[in-house]
Amino acid sequence: MTVLSENATDGEIRLVGSNFTFEGRVEIYHNKEWGTICDDGWGVEETNVVCHQLGYMNGAQYWYGNAKFKKGHGKIWLDDVSCYGNESALIECLNIGWNGHNCRHYEDVGVVCQPKGECTSLSIMSK
Ligand code: CA
Ligand code: CA
Repeated sequence: MTVLSENATDGEIRLVGSNFTFEGRVEIYHNKEWGTICDDGWGVEETNVVCHQLGYMNGAQYWYGNAKFKKGHGKIWLDDVSCYGNESALIECLNIGWNGHNCRHYEDVGVVCQPKGECTSLSIMSK
């Protein structure tokens, strides 16, 4: 199978599976492949890091486990990701290593970032 690199760089993030650009399944690029991230231990800090990395400076609005934005394909690159919340990229957060996981794609994590240009507060809905 040929995987197009699409000029992505290692550790780059994208959101897919939604009609809106500010939300979607979180995918991370590593070793020339896009892969998903498991929902285990995922929360507001991790969502904030993803949103900030994508340029949504107001950070997180919400997050979902269990493949809310459909199941991904291929690798599940990261699991048990744990951020402080002020990292500039998700790969700076603790995790158990590329492709190290005990997950299936029905656990792919999804996030909703505060859309750009909205001056909403950073209050986060708790689950
Ligand atoms: Ca899980
Ligand atoms: Ca896990």
